[in-house]
Amino acid sequence: MTTATDARRHRPSWWDARQVGQVVPTQLTDRDASVTAYIATGNAEGPVLTLLGAVHGDEYEGPVAIAELLAMLAASAISGTLIAVPVVNAPAYEAGRRTNPQDDKDLARCFPGDRNGTPSEQLAHLIATECIAPADALIDLHSGGVALDGALLIGYAAMDDDAGARSRELAYAFGAPVIWAHPPPMPPGRTGSFALERGIPFVYTEATGGGQADRATVACFIEGVQRAMVAMGMLPGESPAPRHREIWRGGGNTDTMVAAGEDGLFRAFVSAGQVVSRGTLVGEIVDFQGRVRERLFAPSDGVLPFIRRTPRVRVGDGLFMLTQRVGGDA
Ligand SMILES: [Zn+2]
Repeated sequence: MTTATDARRHRPSWWDARQVGQVVPTQLTDRDASVTAYIATGNAEGPVLTLLGAVHGDEYEGPVAIAELLAMLAASAISGTLIAVPVVNAPAYEAGRRTNPQDDKDLARCFPGDRNGTPSEQLAHLIATECIAPADALIDLHSGGVALDGALLIGYAAMDDDAGARSRELAYAFGAPVIWAHPPPMPPGRTGSFALERGIPFVYTEATGGGQADRATVACFIEGVQRAMVAMGMLPGESPAPRHREIWRGGGNTDTMVAAGEDGLFRAFVSAGQVVSRGTLVGEIVDFQGRVRERLFAPSDGVLPFIRRTPRVRVGDGLFMLTQRVGGDA
């Protein structure tokens, strides 16, 4: 995998405080925004990889995986620099919520951010300039959070340019059971849209979520990051062979999920990752007397990357989405 030149790479404020062979906890602050990054610098020169967790504050798999990865990683053995941010969205994380209670904004809709904006916009600006802009690649560790059940997968934007090709390489190297390819355009406001606009390859994970960090997910994330680092030449070893079981293709925008048309209690009849045919009863919404208010059917054949886990629903809440299974190359 090719690496960016220093000419293109943005030089962040912390660059000269790196310590070769060490992991240095580094407090990044600008105006009201603050985040702790763990900067691991190897003995050898090499690419810069940025690893983000808890962009949504109720997704615990990323922070757990990053903590375990940092515990087992010998910084001196790295070629290059790893920027690991276990908890990007600290206000949301402290509140146990997906979104930041200071402004109720979804941080993953705020990029590139605004230094003079709301708390989430300031945080997005800080992460964008200090953690993503300097990187040669970005891995953003998400899951279904409390509200959704997500399939264990690695996603990337299947763009017809160099960043798209290198994102695809990273997705195949990561080794999750499912690779989800998203045809362009990439929806705006994401860490990944910021990265890709700058030519920085980007992949992200999804996983079951549910306010936990199950072992299979954490193991997949840790191994996936290590495999990506091998593919980038940051860790020694042969380029990892692909080992996914499925390839999916379709839009991954959770703002466009099939939504509740009624308030009530949702019960799902299928799980994340399950294959359905058009017309399959996916779930239903009942009232407090158990009467069915709405039945939700699959609008097409496909597979479900996400389905709602939390029973309480309000009109407009996302319930599930469908994408297509494809064979071979996506
Ligand atoms: Zn998320």
